Amino acid sequence: MKKLQLYDTYTRSLRDFEALNPPEVGLYTCGPTVYNYAHIGNLRTYIFEDILRRVLTFNGYKVKHVMNITDVGHLTSDADTGDDKMEARSKLTGRSAWEMAAYYTDEFRRDMARLNILEPTIWCKATDHIADQIAFIQKIEANGFTYRTSDGIYFDTSRLPDYGHLGRLDIEGLQAGQRVEMGEKRAPTDFALWKFSPVDQKRQMEWDSPWGVGFPGWHIECSAMSARYLGPFFDIHTGGEDHITIHHTNEIAQTEACYGTHLANYWMHGYFLQLDDNVKMSKSSGDFLRVQTLVDQKIDPLAYRLFCLSALYRAKLNFTWDGLDGASKSLNRLRLAVYQAGPAGAVDEDYMERFTAQINDDLNMPRAMAVVWDLVRSELPPSTIKATLLMMDQVLGLGLADWKPEEVAAPAEIQALLEARQLARKEKRWADADSLRAQITAAGYEIEDTPQGPRLKPRAA
Ligand code: AMP
Ligand code: ZN
Repeated sequence: MKKLQLYDTYTRSLRDFEALNPPEVGLYTCGPTVYNYAHIGNLRTYIFEDILRRVLTFNGYKVKHVMNITDVGHLTSDADTGDDKMEARSKLTGRSAWEMAAYYTDEFRRDMARLNILEPTIWCKATDHIADQIAFIQKIEANGFTYRTSDGIYFDTSRLPDYGHLGRLDIEGLQAGQRVEMGEKRAPTDFALWKFSPVDQKRQMEWDSPWGVGFPGWHIECSAMSARYLGPFFDIHTGGEDHITIHHTNEIAQTEACYGTHLANYWMHGYFLQLDDNVKMSKSSGDFLRVQTLVDQKIDPLAYRLFCLSALYRAKLNFTWDGLDGASKSLNRLRLAVYQAGPAGAVDEDYMERFTAQINDDLNMPRAMAVVWDLVRSELPPSTIKATLLMMDQVLGLGLADWKPEEVAAPAEIQALLEARQLARKEKRWADADSLRAQITAAGYEIEDTPQGPRLKPRAA
């Protein structure tokens, strides 16, 4: 079997995957900021991470998957200015920040379930881990990497010689370019670890700390919670491509200042879903597609999952309705290949080997899908195709084993045509029977003979 190789953003290279403590693998995924619904772009990243997890499991690893929920501290600007996204949105909607966080967390989990994304082994909320974050900042402070301004405690990035390595940041260029927006920060790359509550205003979410009442900066939660659940150096850290230059760069800086490690052994990033006119789908713009939008249009969310598998996770993907429509049709074909095959037979080892070679080549899902289609079109017995597809589906996550055609009851007048036809047949009026069948077909139904007698079902497109 081909050995698993993964692309590591930290080294910018494809590396053989070696677990630190096999068979266990520690996997940390940056979770959603819960001030709004997730859009299907966000979910593309979670689908990529789900495929990664399934591929690891398929390779025999036991994955401990940790995902955080950012329910405080994600500022509206990456320059550590502006309001906290949660508080800002709460003001806008009149709902409390706590209520909103709970609501959008539930909605996110519902979207995950509809896309067959496995639940992480551990969920962790930033607001449940304030003490951990404070303790983490204290260690960074004791190691001499912080300074205080009038609005918070900041990380002094000039103290870390390799700051910005993950994002290959041009520190000098940044320094020259961004002086204006810096406020009291000493360098544009410095970032908030703890922000003070404004003096003239009580925040909904704020806590006491050794530095004064306030709230944690966005990046610290991931360093603190990953260390708590996976230790200061674990196997794989993931997120979307936008996290490379700021969020993950700063997570690494914090953990380096605290423990001297660069946090994870492999860094993996999913690339963006964009609208076909090159527009980035963004949560803060408020105008975006969600899983519910698809459901409202009678599109199965799993067709979107399959659509995502048509591209490499390391390439941007253009969303198109045509593409999604094609994925819906493909999904139906796969479902029928399993559903209509009767009992499953033996798995075809050759096809499995070809499939595994592709998924283990840095999750090459487009090529893995090409193997799937070769299999479906092959001359192998349907029972073999079925068994092999079901095994592949452990990675694809399309729920092929569970699918059943929806029982759509035919309208009463079509049902009446069927009964009239049965009667015509019984009375041997064959011409009438044929004409009734033609009427049923014209209305978009076909007659299926079942052990319980003839039934109507919608005609295949
Ligand atoms: P957020 O809730 O904004 O923190 O984002 C959740 C996840 O979605 C992060 O891993 C982001 O990197 C990722 N993300 C944001 N926008 C997109 C997009 N258009 N396509 C794919 N992933 C995205
Ligand atoms: Zn994070």
